[in-house]
Amino acid sequence: MTTRQTIVTAIERKGALKPCDACGNKTWLVPSGEGEENGVTASMLLGASLGPILTFAPAICNNCGNTRLFHLDTLLGDNDG
Ligand SMILES: [Zn+2]
Repeated sequence: MTTRQTIVTAIERKGALKPCDACGNKTWLVPSGEGEENGVTASMLLGASLGPILTFAPAICNNCGNTRLFHLDTLLGDNDG
């Protein structure tokens, strides 16, 4: 199970939370699910003929709402750089 904390830690480890490109704000929200800390993801179904289901973790700018989507398989992988 991918928890919210796992996602936050991975994003920080990758150095992926630069200031918001829209407003310059430095605070990002990684929403948690209802109740437990089951990782919150936005899934995007591309269709069987187009490829696999891609799963993303959203990070939302605390100021303007600009949203970044991190591809979970890449984010949680060990490939540095
Ligand atoms: Zn912003």
